[in-house]
Amino acid sequence: MISPESAAKRILRDLSITTVDDLQYLEEIAYSRGALVQYARLTGAEARISIVGDKAVITIADSISNRHRQRFNIAHELGHFELHRRRRPRSSCTSADLGSWSDKETSRDPEREANTFAAALLLPEAFFAALCDEADPSLDRVSELAARFNVSLTATALRYIHFSPEPCVVILSEGDRATWAIPNAAFRELGVYIESRVRLDSSSLAHRAFQKKNSRVVGKVRLDTWAAPGQYDPDALVREESWYSEDFGSVLTLLWANEDIYDDDLWEL
Ligand SMILES: [Zn+2]
Repeated sequence: MISPESAAKRILRDLSITTVDDLQYLEEIAYSRGALVQYARLTGAEARISIVGDKAVITIADSISNRHRQRFNIAHELGHFELHRRRRPRSSCTSADLGSWSDKETSRDPEREANTFAAALLLPEAFFAALCDEADPSLDRVSELAARFNVSLTATALRYIHFSPEPCVVILSEGDRATWAIPNAAFRELGVYIESRVRLDSSSLAHRAFQKKNSRVVGKVRLDTWAAPGQYDPDALVREESWYSEDFGSVLTLLWANEDIYDDDLWEL
């Protein structure tokens, strides 16, 4: 079966989409593939798709007014159409499905695949990746790109670190707990495991962002504030940036290991 990334690339190629402006007409892109987008009342779901043969109707809940969210949901449902139409002629997708990000590269969960497809369609490698090749990743930069591409901060942050050569992790916390933590390839090479599904350490800036609400906190924290015990220098520091979102009651964190986290002396012994 075709990968989500390849399926998105094929559409971009077939429709000759080469600029961020071309991507703004998402309803037209879906229509050109055979999927009509409508907005209607939905209960218990944010978006759904109904497929008959090579045609489909995508319904987006009219209770969603955030354009980033509408766009992501359209792209997600189009992902089900392109990838799962034979297996699942109908899908009703909840906010949990649409926020299903897993760091298990091998996972074949259809919701995760549809999200990967959506990110690849809305933030195309062909003209997004080069913008991530920078020496100093930051949420300010991610936010600027999110606005330019009309995509949510979280989806843009994940795609940004995917293409960044710097060792980074994106973490989403809800209710003062880390819900998930996704490292990029450069961070995985460090061999450090970031814990999720645990209560936030009180010395993390994410915890402080929750306490203050409506805040953006940036600074250096000890790596062990976030990481499980490992072989790294116990005094190693990382750069943490945590932004609280009033809309979602969550905190998005960008961790960047911008300094050596191993104790050189240990290796010399
Ligand atoms: Zn879905």
